[in-house]
Amino acid sequence: MSKETVLVIEDEPDIVELIQYSLEREGYLVLTALDGERGLSDAIAREPDLIVLDLMLPGIDGLEVCRRLRDNEATAATPLIMLTAKSEETDIVVGLELGADDYMTKPFSPRQLVARVRAHLRREARSESKKTVKTRIERGDVVLDAERHELRVGGDLVELTRAEFRLLWMLFSKPGRVFQRSELVESLTGGDAFILERNVDVHVSAVRKKLGASGDLVVTIRGIGYKCRD
Ligand code: CA
Repeated sequence: MSKETVLVIEDEPDIVELIQYSLEREGYLVLTALDGERGLSDAIAREPDLIVLDLMLPGIDGLEVCRRLRDNEATAATPLIMLTAKSEETDIVVGLELGADDYMTKPFSPRQLVARVRAHLRREARSESKKTVKTRIERGDVVLDAERHELRVGGDLVELTRAEFRLLWMLFSKPGRVFQRSELVESLTGGDAFILERNVDVHVSAVRKKLGASGDLVVTIRGIGYKCRD
């Protein structure tokens, strides 16, 4: 099997070196690009398995790079982890809207970045090996069955509303992926009814209660939304 390739788009040499070292030690092939322009052309030409993208870049900024990556067929579905400063919360939200899968704020631990890279690549491999439509999700004690529209926690049947089921399905089908409230609103309404984003919080807290001891599988991402624990 050939090595999985990670493209790192970042202009700070120290950070590039740190990421490269950490990922290569884990057996990944690492490509690096020091600006957005180069990053884009490398991404399209080499089609890496995953992209780590810093948002603060000279020239074309990271958000624009993200937008163009998603617009290009070669890179539209490549897992993408953004790197940001803590103060860039708005950028994180925009980046997720543009289709980034995850983000890490600087300073970050290289070990954690490696863990996230691995998790996203594993998820990608799983979804590629299973082309059939998923009808059942298991996370620890929790089993969601789409055909029966059922939730079981530790074997016990738990009543969910349709909206709650859709919300949980969306979160649990992509563990680790951060969902914004606005995305979850769509899952709650099926796209047609009007619902306020803060109502998502109400549904999430109801769902957590119903999950009992497994309620902590649903993780709050402050100021952004929710995810299912990896
Ligand atoms: Ca930078």
